[in-house]
Amino acid sequence: MDKMKNILSDDFIWYSSFMEREKYNRMVSPKNTSDILLQKRAEIISNSTRLLRIFIHYRNIFTHKNPNKEWDFENVFDTTHYDFFISNVSVEIKNKIKGISYGDLYSNDPNGMIMKTVHDPLITLDSSLDYFLKYSNLALMSEKFEVPYRIRKNGLFIAYRVMRKYEALDFDFDPRGKIPKTIDHIINSMVFWQKVFITGHEFSHYLLGHLNNSNLKEMKLFMSSEEVTTFKVYNYMQQQEFDADIHALKLLEMSNVNYNDYGDSVIMWFCNLSIFEGALEYTNPKIGYRRSTHPTGKERLKNVFDFLKTKLNLDDDYYISLLTVIDKYVKVMHTELALSIDELEKYGSLYLDKPNTKWRGRERIDRVDY
Ligand SMILES: [Zn+2]
Repeated sequence: MDKMKNILSDDFIWYSSFMEREKYNRMVSPKNTSDILLQKRAEIISNSTRLLRIFIHYRNIFTHKNPNKEWDFENVFDTTHYDFFISNVSVEIKNKIKGISYGDLYSNDPNGMIMKTVHDPLITLDSSLDYFLKYSNLALMSEKFEVPYRIRKNGLFIAYRVMRKYEALDFDFDPRGKIPKTIDHIINSMVFWQKVFITGHEFSHYLLGHLNNSNLKEMKLFMSSEEVTTFKVYNYMQQQEFDADIHALKLLEMSNVNYNDYGDSVIMWFCNLSIFEGALEYTNPKIGYRRSTHPTGKERLKNVFDFLKTKLNLDDDYYISLLTVIDKYVKVMHTELALSIDELEKYGSLYLDKPNTKWRGRERIDRVDY
């Protein structure tokens, strides 16, 4: 059904379960880019029964915990990566990006994107990136953290399924496992830097003038069997993608210590992306999530590695070892997909381990525990 028709016919009932009347009114006649962002977010959620269920759940929990507070639909979306990025660039850059709007929404692209709107351009990242990044980072933790092989493998598949929209996005109510505190802390810090980098990459496209002469591409967002929403996003040339990656690395003014964390996390991000792209080749070599001109994760890894090499004191052996890990995990994923593609591409929840084990914790029962 075309939900846009409902927006136009003032059918608040479709949206009342997750958004307030005032927000609905803003969305119906958008006056600026943040109203458009609100509209896109609502459109995606109302078109997806699965996401709708999660948002109703969020709202119930919020109302239960804060009986005297008003629910704010927009508050659900994380902005820390944008806030950090903007407060850590130079005053000159801050002034240049003043007119840009930004905010996360649900999509199926691990890369960020810039949408064209009738007002300012809109920078967005996928709201489910947290889960994708967390579980793929877990799989790539160094040997010294002693993450068992089956946990790494399950982590990779949770990440894959998140991005392919097979995994239920109810992580807040149904954790997929129990990650030891020290590892969890490192992973969360990496996720933060990776989102800051993806944010910086998108702002860099704008700052480097890539929007001026780029063409537009129709993007399908939040794609699964029954849910498709299309938007117009900017599409760039390969060289512009490489340039935006390097510019994002140059933009942040930080101490050396932080810069090491930033750089390391960015290298891991391209490993995550390369493994995901490699796995996709098995199931869908021509999947629509990638823009036709976008360089591969591996090509972008090489580009940022060459830039970071001296800054982070890295050697070529390390680069070779990253490629070896990527290839190894892609092979593992292809083998598993060949064996049980029906299971791995079915909507539901995948866990790090069996219930009542170290990496899983106590079993939680749907509709009882959450
Ligand atoms: Zn880009």
